[in-house]
Amino acid sequence: MMMIRSLRLRVHSSLYISSFSTLSSSSSAAAVQADRTIKEGPRNNWTKDEIKHVYDSPVLDLLYHGAQVHRHAHNFREVQQCTLLSVKTGGCSEDCSYCPQSSRYNTGLKAQKMMGKDAILEAAEKAKEAGSTRFCMGAAWRDTVGRKTNFKQILEYVKEIRGMGMEVCCTLGMIEKQQAMELKEAGLTAYNHNLDTSREFYPNIITTRSYDERLETLKFVREAGINVCSGGIIGLGEAEEDRVGLLHTLATLPEHPESVPINALLAVKGTPLEDQKPVEIWEMIRMIATARIVMPRAMVRLSAGRVRFSMSEQALCFLAGANSIFTGEKLLTTPNNDFDADQMMFKVLGLTPKAPDFDQKATSFEAERCEQEATAS
Ligand code: SF4
Repeated sequence: MMMIRSLRLRVHSSLYISSFSTLSSSSSAAAVQADRTIKEGPRNNWTKDEIKHVYDSPVLDLLYHGAQVHRHAHNFREVQQCTLLSVKTGGCSEDCSYCPQSSRYNTGLKAQKMMGKDAILEAAEKAKEAGSTRFCMGAAWRDTVGRKTNFKQILEYVKEIRGMGMEVCCTLGMIEKQQAMELKEAGLTAYNHNLDTSREFYPNIITTRSYDERLETLKFVREAGINVCSGGIIGLGEAEEDRVGLLHTLATLPEHPESVPINALLAVKGTPLEDQKPVEIWEMIRMIATARIVMPRAMVRLSAGRVRFSMSEQALCFLAGANSIFTGEKLLTTPNNDFDADQMMFKVLGLTPKAPDFDQKATSFEAERCEQEATAS
């Protein structure tokens, strides 16, 4: 097994040498930075200008170099299937302009109490049977402070679902240091808390909690030893600089998030963003390939908005570096892709479901280098 993997890495290396030996002064920023990422591994000292130039590279060139970094750092055929369940829907006090679950907007969504244990565990079993290796529980809360009973229940569900052999993720709003530690203790794999957009554009989208509060939650999650899942949404009315700004914040965190969801807004009637025009596939590809080049190890998740893209368009996203999707009827409250259509897509594109990985760092460049060194010596 070790020999097969080492061979794969050597094949990667020789492909890489022949492809990149043609780098010239006229090479795009995507080519130059992908080359550097492959040679040096992940780095956290990206400048905004460097990322902007990668993002602005000719789109097919960007896609090509995103694909090369992807093939160097990951098994390009593997795509993780995650299921996201809204365990407590609607009635949220926050004012996120894109969200139908905010109690401030009239979207027709009925607020519901937290789901019961049996229904949640049954949903997790069903997701596992359908091929999901990660089960995410989402609750429409500003934070978990003062929700002792609910939080205790969540801890119990985390333990149970982890016991089923699945990775478990939660997205419960802001959490405190102690709560992050309790979630880790319960066996949580990852905590999702998106930054949504750039620091500069953020006040146009949310006013009820600050960008720094979000970063603080990510810090607590990281310090507790839980994998960080954090990304954003495009199509909120932001400029391209804001998309670059979001990627810059994520790529310059002390450690890159293990997961970076890239969402395309699904405008919901009744929210302040109901009239936003849909995101084009090329915008998604720019985001995905740039994320792949600047955060090579991360699982880049093709998330909300996937339902609007055809199989061919999704194929381009996988080629550019996406390696995870959400499956299941709904993504929290918005529609998601049909299960059978997803199965068919895996078959047609030759994708394989990714097995659960309880130590994602095992796929790191460092691990690859160690293996290469071990093979060479
Ligand atoms: S995104 Fe989360 S925090 Fe914001 S309104 Fe929706 S449920 Fe509440």
